[in-house]
Parts: sequence; C-alpha cells; structure tokens
Amino acid sequence: MQELHDAPLAPLTTFRLGGPADRLITATTDAEVIAAVREADESGTPLLLIGGGSNLVIGDKGFAGTALVIATKGFALDGTRLELAAGEVWTDAVARTVEAGLAGIECLAGIPGSAGATPIQNVGAYGQEVSSTITEVVAYDRATRETVTIPNADCAFTYRHSRFKADPERYVVLRVRFDLEDADGLSAPVRYTETARSLGVGVGDRVPLDTAREAVLKLRSGKGMVLDPEDHDTWSAGSFFTNPILTDEAFAAFRARVAERLGEDVMPPAYPAGDGHTKTSAAWLIDKAGFTKGYGSGPARISTKHTLALTNRGDATTEDLLVLAREVVAGVRDAFGITLVNEPVTVGVSL
Ligand SMILES: Cc1cc2nc3c(=O)[nH]c(=O)nc-3n(C[C@H](O)[C@H](O)[C@H](O)COP(=O)(O)OP(=O)(O)OC[C@H]3O[C@@H](n4cnc5c(N)ncnc54)[C@H](O)[C@@H]3O)c2cc1C
Repeated sequence: MQELHDAPLAPLTTFRLGGPADRLITATTDAEVIAAVREADESGTPLLLIGGGSNLVIGDKGFAGTALVIATKGFALDGTRLELAAGEVWTDAVARTVEAGLAGIECLAGIPGSAGATPIQNVGAYGQEVSSTITEVVAYDRATRETVTIPNADCAFTYRHSRFKADPERYVVLRVRFDLEDADGLSAPVRYTETARSLGVGVGDRVPLDTAREAVLKLRSGKGMVLDPEDHDTWSAGSFFTNPILTDEAFAAFRARVAERLGEDVMPPAYPAGDGHTKTSAAWLIDKAGFTKGYGSGPARISTKHTLALTNRGDATTEDLLVLAREVVAGVRDAFGITLVNEPVTVGVSL
C-alpha cells in the first residue's frame, strides 16, 4: 500500500484537473482496499474512491480527506464466466475477452477506466451496456462493514445509473462478474445503426468479434473517445451530459419548442425509453443551441470532434470547465426548456 500526503489529483484524472488530496493511498489487494476504507470510516475521514479517473471532475481546491486509488489486479476466465478485479483496466480486459472468443462486451472497447467503475454508471456504448452481461458485483458494504455479493437484479441498473451511483457513500466495488457468450468467434448481434453501417451489415447481424471491436475503436477515435495524451480532445470525461429521458408530455412540449425555433419539419432525435418515456440526444440539443464542435475561446472548450465532450485544452482549471458547462446548460435550457444533467461525478464542486 502506497501512501502520499498533499498529493495532486489532477494527474490521476483524464481531465488533468483538480487540486490535491490530504492523503492519497494506492491499494493493490482487496484486503488493502478494505483496510483503507475501514480506517477512513472509523476515523470519520471523508473518502474518495478513484479508478481510472475518467469520470471525475475534482474541484480546484482538491479533496480534504483520503483519496483511495483502487489498483487491484485479477482477470479470471472459466468457460464463459469472467471475474475482474476492480482495478483491472477495462479496455484491456475487453481485448482479452475478444481474444478468448467471447461476446458481450466487445462494443465497450476503448472506454477508459477501471472494471470496478463499470457498474457504477452502467457503462455503455454502441448498443451494449455492462448490465446485460454482469451477473454479480462483489462489494465492501460500508454500512454493514461486510463484503457482499450483489446479484444483477439487485443492482438497479438503468441508463447510466445504478444503486451504486444512487448511494455513492455505501459500496466499494471489489470484483465484477460477467457471463459472456461463446458464439463461435462471432460478436453479439450488432445493435447500433452506426456500427452496423460502418461494418456494412444489418442491425441484428453478427460479425467476427475482432472486427466488431476494431470498428468500434475506429468510430470512437474519430470522435476523440479513445484516450490519446497528445490529443486535447480526449482530455475529457467522455460525454459530459447524459441523454435526457422525457415523459411523453415533456417530449411533446420539447417538440413544440423545436418547431418554433428550428421549423415545423425539424424532428429531434427520439428513441423509445420504455414506460411512456422518450430519450433524446444531448449532443443534438447542444449543437442546435449553438454550441458547435470546438466552441469556446478559453482553456476549456467543446471537443473539436464531438459536441458532447467538454475538454481541457492544456491549462484549464476546474472552474474554467464548470463555467463552460454552466453556459451550455443555460443555453440548452433557454433554447429548448430541457436541463442537461452532468454524467461525470463531481467532487467538491457542482454545476
Ligand atoms: C474519452 C472518454 C470516453 C468515454 N466513453 C464512455 C462511454 O462510451 N460510455 C460510458 O459509459 N462512459 C464513458 N466514459 C466515462 C468513463 O470512462 C466511465 O464512466 C468509466 O467507467 C469510469 O471508470 P474510472 O475507473 O475511470 O472511474 P473514476 O472516474 O475513477 O470514478 C468514477 C466514479 O466511480 C467511483 N468508483 C470508481 N471505482 C470504484 C469502485 N471500485 N467502487 C466504487 N466506486 C468506484 C468513483 O468514486 C467515482 O464516483 C468515457 C470517458 C472518457 C475520458
């Protein structure tokens, strides 16, 4: 277990933003993780869990407490069953499952961060979400001080949400278990129109696993969604806002605003989201409200490759980022009456 004091957190995040933590611990075994969490809880010290830092916006003042980096390792495959230690690098684990000929998470290639964080916001992209393949999550429960195994059905997974995100002070994910599919080297059925189009197949078709993974990586790179230290478009947290899910009534009001502002023939993106709800696109809203790719003149700007990513051009502060985020939220609200919600977790700051 490594311990540092007054340690900068910015280098641990993909935004490269945030002040120092009073104390920074790196734990490499489950026992070390649990010991560090117990110690913080028993002494009443605030605790910040960090995986790959790819979904974190940490305030410029930093964190007055213990920041715990979960750096445990473990990739165990037994047939189609996979168990990952929380600290495993997610995209590497995806590559290994593809090499092993197993389907189910190949379209989640290129998503930065750790395996242990994937259940937190039910990580998803290109038609796949971890909730479809996770069987159970092994976690340390800070309320009961025990290690618990939570089956998928009890994880309350929804779009970019889960019981872990809803109750962030309670669970420390130690291990994530998946059941993948052996489809003779083929991918899961391609669900996303853009992926199908780039592969030249129909939605619902299967393709060789590696072909699916490569296609997703190529699409993601074109949008600055694969980490590249040389490319400031990737100094981000990926999508900064979630796609709004509206009741039918709210969607009708939104459509009327769109017609008024952009013309009767303009139809906003609409995807059925179950139970009288419709999902629309945050990227579309941002773009149509006038915040196009590359928007901004300061050190925090919208990515030149994707309207949904707010980025640090190199010398931004968290405050610069928040000023931009607030401007986008206000602009979209004024234009369309919809309040965007941030996807990354904020620490010591809020929008
Ligand atoms: C370029 C880029 C592209 C991205 N693309 C996508 C995408 O396509 N789809 C998507 O869903 N996300 C995407 N993201 C967001 C991010 O990569 C994911 O949310 C990822 O799962 C975060 O993992 P992490 O280890 O970096 O978490 P961190 O940023 O370290 O932490 C995120 C949150 O999880 C908590 N946490 C971390 N580890 C644990 C643990 N073991 N137990 C309990 N809580 C924990 C933290 O305290 C924090 O609240 C992208 C980010 C970037 C930078």
